[in-house]
Amino acid sequence: MSEKGKLIVISGPSGAGKSTVVFKAIEGRNDFCFSTSVTTRSPRPGEVDGREYFFIDRETYDRMVEQDELLEHAEYVTNGYGTPRAFVEQKLNEGMNVVLDIEIQGARQVRSKMPEAVMIFIIPPSMEELRRRLVNRGTDSMEAIEGRLARAKEEYAEAEGYDYLIVNDRIEEAAAAFSAIVTAEHLRFADRKDLLK
Ligand code: 5GP
Repeated sequence: MSEKGKLIVISGPSGAGKSTVVFKAIEGRNDFCFSTSVTTRSPRPGEVDGREYFFIDRETYDRMVEQDELLEHAEYVTNGYGTPRAFVEQKLNEGMNVVLDIEIQGARQVRSKMPEAVMIFIIPPSMEELRRRLVNRGTDSMEAIEGRLARAKEEYAEAEGYDYLIVNDRIEEAAAAFSAIVTAEHLRFADRKDLLK
């Protein structure tokens, strides 16, 4: 692969089904990878260190921020989250599309550092549906769920500046929308002028 990969940022409320949409869209493809973030949050039941996240303590997190090892970082509800920079840069250079599932403060940092990033906001069909999904997931306390719903409302108010908006009502349609966006982004004229020679 000679072409550089696309950096794809997905944001939207926790419970919108962002990673489910993307996993569905990239099933069977080998030109995509997910960046694994670091977080100070404790693992939920079933989460594995190095798979969902690298679970680290505050001290390690603060040191990574200090040493500029994170492409972006942000506080979400009561925890720190961040994207290790080296992995993203390496994979993009190898021609892989790299997906970051991050909240919007971090997304803004990515946009200002890498304006060519493709920014996609994914939402559930309604706030009621979001509450239902969070309750059904059964991994957060009611207090944490209320915190996440409040944060979702703040994020909607600040989501201006994304390139695309996907409503995850039916997973197949949302995944098809994601694939269509990535296909179109790879066909950008500015990136393909060489073909005219
Ligand atoms: P959760 O605790 O539900 O896994 O994630 C909470 C929020 O943190 C989600 O909106 C998720 O997208 C966001 N998040 C996960 N990793 C990162 C990261 O590396 N950076 C930023 N800025 N947000 C992240």
